Amino acid sequence: MSEIKHNSKLHEEMVTWRHHIHKHPELSFKEEMTSDYIASVLESNNIEMHRGMAVTGIVATIHGTKKGKAIGLRADMDALPIQERNDFSHKSVHEGKMHACGHDGHSTMLLGAAVYLKKNNNFAGTVHFIFQPAEEGGGGGRVMVEEGIFEKFPCEAVYGMHNWPGLAEGQFAVHDTAVMAANETLKITIKGKGGHAAMPDQCVDPIMIGAQVISALQSVVSRSVAPLDSAVISITMVDAGFVSNVIPNEMNLTGSLRYFKSEVGEEVKEKIKNIAQGISQSMGATATFSSIPNYPATVNTPKHAQLCAQAAEKVVGKENVLRNEKPSMGSEDFSFLLNASEGAYIWIGNGLVPEDSPEGGCMLHNTQYDFNDEILPTGSSYWVELVRSLLK
Ligand SMILES: [Zn+2]
Ligand SMILES: [Zn+2]
Repeated sequence: MSEIKHNSKLHEEMVTWRHHIHKHPELSFKEEMTSDYIASVLESNNIEMHRGMAVTGIVATIHGTKKGKAIGLRADMDALPIQERNDFSHKSVHEGKMHACGHDGHSTMLLGAAVYLKKNNNFAGTVHFIFQPAEEGGGGGRVMVEEGIFEKFPCEAVYGMHNWPGLAEGQFAVHDTAVMAANETLKITIKGKGGHAAMPDQCVDPIMIGAQVISALQSVVSRSVAPLDSAVISITMVDAGFVSNVIPNEMNLTGSLRYFKSEVGEEVKEKIKNIAQGISQSMGATATFSSIPNYPATVNTPKHAQLCAQAAEKVVGKENVLRNEKPSMGSEDFSFLLNASEGAYIWIGNGLVPEDSPEGGCMLHNTQYDFNDEILPTGSSYWVELVRSLLK
């Protein structure tokens, strides 16, 4: 049974908050109005809070009527640099910025749970509500850990939740282990010898060599990664040359690497380096390779996944908590919190994507995405049930 009912007064309030945040999206570490707005709702409900972690972050705290352990619940607050193409009244009024990943909904669901639990605090222990900035590439989770969130607010475990388009409204997905992949940026520079396009024999053409490197890289995952492990290599930017009649000196390749197991990531990077350097050397060029780690993999532990699943089952029933969904090769900076604390991260269904939906319809990071207001009470109720079941 949902603690927070559909069409209740709190649901209506949450829709108002969600629309306000959606209408005023702010990018990573710039969530000032968003942070002020969330703080104003917390304040008007007499909820204590600490502001300013990772620039705009908020940690609100509610104590139960009895003593006990402390846990953390986390939502992200930032938007994306996307121009919204929706027409509804809560459409973004900030040019070129949009809540296209549903972090407006995540903040709202956590805020709803805080407001509810402040009035219904018959639990044993303490809940820290973490409103985190900069999930979209900024690593706000990493900064909060570096600024000592778990020293300032010790938590026995921390929990996260993301909406998932394609998963039905009224369903959750809980993974026992890996949920989201690690993400690194790859950079390869191939140095040849430029010259006249009509005299290639006097040059070492980095573009021709780079093309072979790009093709050969696609053999790494298929031939070097065990079939039941996962990795993705995508070369996404190619930069070389400036005019049609000159062979340039160098070619730069940039790409993205995704994997779950760090040993797989290390093996793949070694192979990428060997291929780039081997092909380049065999043709008289040189290659340098580097990778920049962005986010580690988000990996649950079965124990915490089970606790989350049990709380979700209380809200939507056992049949609506999916336990065998495939993980995503997308990534998530909640991984930094999970590497610093025990816990788990789950998906809440944002609704099925209709076949006739506009291009990309309601998929994340799409110009026509919108968080589903109908799932606000479901998500908040999950947080409430999680608190009740863990702090008793
Ligand atoms: Zn996103
Ligand atoms: Zn997101």
